[in-house]
Amino acid sequence: MSEDYYPNRRDILCAADIIRSCSNAVVLTGAGISTPSGIPDFRSPQSGLWEKYDPFEVASLNAFRYHPEKFYNWLRPLARDIQSAQPNPAHLGLARLEQAGFVTQIITQNFDRLHQRAGSINVLEVHGSLDTLTCANCYRQQESIEFIQAYVNRGEIPYCPFCQGTLKPDVILFGEQLPARIWLKAQECIARCDLLIVVGSSLEVLPVAGLPMRAVDNGAHLIILNQSETYIDIRADLVLSDNVAITIPWIVKEVMGD
Ligand SMILES: [Zn+2]
Repeated sequence: MSEDYYPNRRDILCAADIIRSCSNAVVLTGAGISTPSGIPDFRSPQSGLWEKYDPFEVASLNAFRYHPEKFYNWLRPLARDIQSAQPNPAHLGLARLEQAGFVTQIITQNFDRLHQRAGSINVLEVHGSLDTLTCANCYRQQESIEFIQAYVNRGEIPYCPFCQGTLKPDVILFGEQLPARIWLKAQECIARCDLLIVVGSSLEVLPVAGLPMRAVDNGAHLIILNQSETYIDIRADLVLSDNVAITIPWIVKEVMGD
């Protein structure tokens, strides 16, 4: 990438114009924003994680109940990638837009905490977080920090210190409900926004995939920054299919007048 040239400059200007003209922009992010940070998309058939395991067999609530060791074997390389990953220019650009008041809320399907580490404040993790674990037996919640090193380094499955039940990371597995309060808040944000920017999500996982439709039905603008097509591209003001770690810094530069 050249410093002062972007091939679709008109698209960048158009995105920046829309962002500047709106007062309540919400961003919805998926795995595609974190793949440039080296975190594979575990729901994507192209990720190595799918070739070795069927996520529905290891990353579902039922699978966890019966074979927690299989779940943890599958999660381990992903947890290791997340531990060593750094926010990329897309995360940093969105944090900058938030700090400058151009973005009011980030709704993310990711549980890698790269938005927060990039400096974003208003982040709703609709698919949960790896920061805490809940006992599958007594439902007491624990901080992950005490267990994560033993697990990532030595493969030790975390057990509840109170009842010895298996601890489950508070990430949403296939077949699980979204965290109710966070999901409600995400829906409220979508109902109020005048712009939704989808970043790195192919919008294939329900119910999150339905949010952009609700936003446009309410009259909000829609910008989609994703490398593959989505079902709602046709209703977007603008679709940019380049790498988001490249497009977002260009858009930010234009919005901020750097
Ligand atoms: Zn317990």
